[in-house]
Amino acid sequence: MVDVVKGEVREGVTIATDGNHITAVQAGFAPARPGQELIDLRGHTVLPGLIDLHVHIADEFSPEFHSEQFFKEQADYALRAVTYAERTLLAGFTTVRNLGEKERGVSFALRRAVDAGYIRGPRIFTSGASVSTTGGHGDPTNGLRLDYMGDPGPELGVINGADAARKAVRQRYKVGADVIKLAVTGGVLSLAKSGDNPQFTPDELAAVMETARDYNLPVTVHAHGAEGMKRAIQAGVDSIEHGTFMDEEARQLMKAHGTWYVPTISAGRWVAKKAAEPGYFPEIIRAKAAAVGPQIQETFAAAYRSGVKIAFGTDAGVYPHGLNAMEFVYMVEAGMPALEAIQAATVRAAQVLRREAELGSLEIGKLADIVAVRGDPLVHIDQMNNIVFVMKDGVVYRNGQVASWPLTE
Ligand SMILES: [Zn+2]
Repeated sequence: MVDVVKGEVREGVTIATDGNHITAVQAGFAPARPGQELIDLRGHTVLPGLIDLHVHIADEFSPEFHSEQFFKEQADYALRAVTYAERTLLAGFTTVRNLGEKERGVSFALRRAVDAGYIRGPRIFTSGASVSTTGGHGDPTNGLRLDYMGDPGPELGVINGADAARKAVRQRYKVGADVIKLAVTGGVLSLAKSGDNPQFTPDELAAVMETARDYNLPVTVHAHGAEGMKRAIQAGVDSIEHGTFMDEEARQLMKAHGTWYVPTISAGRWVAKKAAEPGYFPEIIRAKAAAVGPQIQETFAAAYRSGVKIAFGTDAGVYPHGLNAMEFVYMVEAGMPALEAIQAATVRAAQVLRREAELGSLEIGKLADIVAVRGDPLVHIDQMNNIVFVMKDGVVYRNGQVASWPLTE
């Protein structure tokens, strides 16, 4: 068992659960008492349920990503997302943080359906639609013809000025968001030219932060460019997503402010690969994917070396849901020890969610989210791609090599 709190591996452990909680973690293999069910995971490594802090559980990118909105209903998006949720859970990710969605409301419906037991999926924390500025990375009407483009406002996540910023935060509180996601710089997959320019002014950021604090909502920001990132760090955001063109000044600011870094190397690797496929992306996106994609893994390596706090997130939905654990391989490739990569996806991610009292480690009183792989992932990190046991809230969703959803590239 990996004890992610102490940062050590314990050999030969018995974990007891009752309902959805862990009730004992003891040395040695204890027999089952009458009425108890024994799950024998000898020969495996047992870990806390994994947490991915950056997914788009309601979407999956494809060449039709931008055009399908004219042909599909919200129900189509929702039903498709059921398979994304299931793939994610069966890959060992018992908790996800959803940061933005194309069709507003799908992640909330998904969260309710999972909580009610209608569908099999991870525990979902969601921002709902991200908050952006006009023409910014999260403006849902970028690239459309003028009469479709219109002039969306805070409800659709497009703000200009402090008042609209406050309204967008309050609106998200009203619909049940767990976190506020801002797109503070340009991004790759939007139909807009810049992938890295700053897109929020300091007064807009201050208004978001002031309001989010009133409603006890954490704030995380999509950022590729250094200037937008620095403004956000100075405004006091909780975490930076991607962080692609992070420079030394940004790293020092993050350390000084205690800002978390959620790298999403997987997204960088994926879009860099797809940028080389003719016709996969429209040209306005392809150029950005080729510039931003290859950089993220190096940024991660530099951030790790300089001691920035790192938690695990992948941007699932940019690449196919269910391949989330590849991020571990990329993190280790870039110089992070396997144990720390696992801590980033468990105990550290739970801190970012502000749920460390109930999630992120195998300790008495924590929720019974338990996963296992064969062999030793601290030696062979790619074993994280072969999760064979998944329990969430005390319910076993996978035990052995069950067939998972076919993944297509
Ligand atoms: Zn994303």
